[in-house]
Amino acid sequence: METIYFDNNATTKVADEVLDEMRPLFCELYGNPSSMHTFGGQIGRKIRQAREQVAALLGCDPSEIVFTGCGTESDNTAIKGTLAAVPNKRKVITTRVEHPAVLAVCRDLENYGYTVVELGVDKKGRLDMAELQEQLDEDTALVTIMYANNETGVVCPVEDIAELVSSKGAVFHTDGVQAVGKIPLNLSQGNIDLLSLSGHKLHAPKGVGVLYVRKGTRLSPFMLGGHQEGGRRAGTENVPGIVGLGKACELAARNIEQENNKVRSLRDKLEDAILENCPDARLNGDKENRLPNTTNISFEYIEGEAILLMLDRYGICASSGSACTSGSLEPSHVLRAMGVPFTAAHGSIRFSLSRYNTEKEVDYTIEKMPQIVNQLRELSPFVAK
Ligand code: PLP
Repeated sequence: METIYFDNNATTKVADEVLDEMRPLFCELYGNPSSMHTFGGQIGRKIRQAREQVAALLGCDPSEIVFTGCGTESDNTAIKGTLAAVPNKRKVITTRVEHPAVLAVCRDLENYGYTVVELGVDKKGRLDMAELQEQLDEDTALVTIMYANNETGVVCPVEDIAELVSSKGAVFHTDGVQAVGKIPLNLSQGNIDLLSLSGHKLHAPKGVGVLYVRKGTRLSPFMLGGHQEGGRRAGTENVPGIVGLGKACELAARNIEQENNKVRSLRDKLEDAILENCPDARLNGDKENRLPNTTNISFEYIEGEAILLMLDRYGICASSGSACTSGSLEPSHVLRAMGVPFTAAHGSIRFSLSRYNTEKEVDYTIEKMPQIVNQLRELSPFVAK
């Protein structure tokens, strides 16, 4: 049975071109870029090239790219590094729908005397800009709001938010882990100070990330030690990962429009058919302002986990809630923040596609979903029979 992979917001396949680029860096070009000899020096050139490739995708200067170990590290660095650099301000603003890589860090700050404000969202997952405006004050050091939600795909108006935050003299960080490679960016325009991304969400390997740091942004280093990354992130570089990420960014920049269109039409076909053929199913999130690859659908009266297990039998991989919190039976904090009723939040499934998905896979899933939903409803104690 072939695997049909619709869980690309959890992680993605490493692109063949990326792996080809990485391969020599394990056993042939394995020098340390900090070494004085020529053998190590050539690795430094590889990192420089990767930095340029990432900067080209983000529309920024290569000097503004700091390589990290993952998206979580980038988020932690952005938040803690900003607060350490701006010690006289004690307030942080975020949202209730952030990934735990941001939300857990912000909640922990309360233990250190910070005021943390978690902004709400409406039933489509859209942020209340008026509430943000009201909360922004002289004491606000940092506003951290995600670019695109990992569970629903809802995209935030981060450029407008960044402008507002900048006018109040606070730093603006956005978790761009799900957005980069799916939304065209030009960070040289606008007011985003810090942006996180993660390699394994855009067909590069796991274990490499980036924090974009706009020139002039005050940020204390999170990892201390060597002088790597211009003293902004100590630790010997994950050279194969960095080179792979550079190549993945080059590929994304080359095909972003074309791939978005293909992925969006497959996602729409899947979504429309499921909503039409499965009774009591509803879409979660703002249909108009979403990533092109993500759909999140709730099925009343049945458990998301049960649907996942049934899909798994047919080789179809999807997700209920975010990958990092699955395993717990708590309904998704994102759907709860959107006011999705408990029963519907429990029965939610996320399909997240990539450029590697095909129409045949979508058609097969469209055929299976109504069967699965009907079968589970037959067993459900909540459905009148
Ligand atoms: N932020 C978002 C929005 C994510 O979706 C994820 C991973 O799912 C992360 C941060 C964490 O990234 P990483 O897995 O690279 O630590």
